[in-house]
Amino acid sequence: MTELTRLSLAAARDGLNAKKFTATELTRAHVDAVEKARALNAYLKETPEKALAAAAESDARLAKGEARPLEGLPLGIKDLYCTNGVETTAASRILEGFKPHYESTVTSQLWRDGAVMLGKLNLDEFAMGSSNETSAYGPVVSPWRRKGSDAKIVPGGSSGGSAAAVAAHLCLAATATDTGGSIRQPAAFTGTVGIKPTYGRCSRWGIVAFASSLDQAGPIARDVRDTAIMLRSMAGFDPKDSTSVDRPVPDYEAAVGASVKGKKIGIPKEYRLDGMSQEIDALWMKGVEWLKAAGAEIVDISLPHTHHALPAYYIVAPAEASSNLARYDGVRYGLRKPGKDIVAMYENTRAAGFGAEVRRRIMIGAYVLSAGYYDAYYVRAQKIRTLIRRDFEAAFHAGVDAILTPATPSTAFGIGEKGSADPVEMYLNDVFTVTVNMAGLPGLVVPGGLASDGLPLGLQLIGRPFEEETLFSLGSAIEQAAPKIELPQDWWA
Ligand code: GLN
Repeated sequence: MTELTRLSLAAARDGLNAKKFTATELTRAHVDAVEKARALNAYLKETPEKALAAAAESDARLAKGEARPLEGLPLGIKDLYCTNGVETTAASRILEGFKPHYESTVTSQLWRDGAVMLGKLNLDEFAMGSSNETSAYGPVVSPWRRKGSDAKIVPGGSSGGSAAAVAAHLCLAATATDTGGSIRQPAAFTGTVGIKPTYGRCSRWGIVAFASSLDQAGPIARDVRDTAIMLRSMAGFDPKDSTSVDRPVPDYEAAVGASVKGKKIGIPKEYRLDGMSQEIDALWMKGVEWLKAAGAEIVDISLPHTHHALPAYYIVAPAEASSNLARYDGVRYGLRKPGKDIVAMYENTRAAGFGAEVRRRIMIGAYVLSAGYYDAYYVRAQKIRTLIRRDFEAAFHAGVDAILTPATPSTAFGIGEKGSADPVEMYLNDVFTVTVNMAGLPGLVVPGGLASDGLPLGLQLIGRPFEEETLFSLGSAIEQAAPKIELPQDWWA
């Protein structure tokens, strides 16, 4: 039955509709794969009974010819999405035991369209991290290994569970979120595809908030088409999220494979970093050649404020986080550590409930928002944010349809290898991705090939607001031209 887990989401959908197998068989194959892959620590919670019950309902619908768009397709859900009656932890001790009485809008749309939930996926605590090592429930192990080595590799973060589960065939696709790169960097590290849609494209309602002006939901899947199929169900206006945008949701799948002839692709010189590995640069130039061969026109552009993006992000994101995380006080959710009075209870709960990285962000955030420092840090970072957005606007105004960049400055690193002495070392992972969140733009990551260490590398396409379709077309052109990546064999089973 394992071959059922090897199907793409689109092939599984078509196979179900053609009655080649049942939703129950498809789900059972995934449930078995998930059980055998516990060594990867990708799932924080498995929900096999729920999955099989949903699959049975899907089989009944399929038999009646009433299949919905995602009928019977088993997915993994990042444990930042609130799921009705199923524990939702954000990979934090402070939310231990929290069972929402409601469903996030995005997941409710997936269930509306017939999808099946296999369980909740591991992540960095409150989505703060780039390696999944800040999870209170232990790191996720990537299914990938360096050539000739058994050392454990990170899948990236914060959506590390999502990326690892997709790469290891533990679901057909997964939900993820991206505040500064958390969909795109793990996709790049695991040879999968991920899109952070335009800010406002998906509802944030019911997703545990990190930095509300940057957070966006999006999918990770094994190819561009599957990502497009997922986004169609995830996107859409939601009156419960005042920042969601009321625009029709296109048939993204129709954009996959569409011609990219005449599309103007910008190559920003500021993304060529000093000391960047030769391999990353070479892959980037290959991406240029692939798009040229597909009929796109390549132009050099400048995004002059790029190098300010990372420091500004690490002010704006913690500032919003410190405010959003104020609600975890031992009164309303999850963990409570009693104290002699209510203030002591708050302090005990928050000290015991938050991990080191989350505490660091809360302290930085409170500092940059405090009287006397607000203008020097927060207001300045907001100004830089505007300048970054204007850089992109100028490029688009000059006729650029999309921008091609590397996704990450390196391949995946080993567990424990980065950031323990200096957190900035970890933050540098986001150098190519945070700009996109700061400007609210869509960004797609597709695999470009393998580096000399045997690990995947990704390319990023940045688009105009709400032009995800252009990204899907360009992404599929790269996908067709790039060497096919073989996902790792199941050494973990
Ligand atoms: N790695 C970045 C951070 O730690 C981005 C995380 C994210 O996108 N959720 O803030």
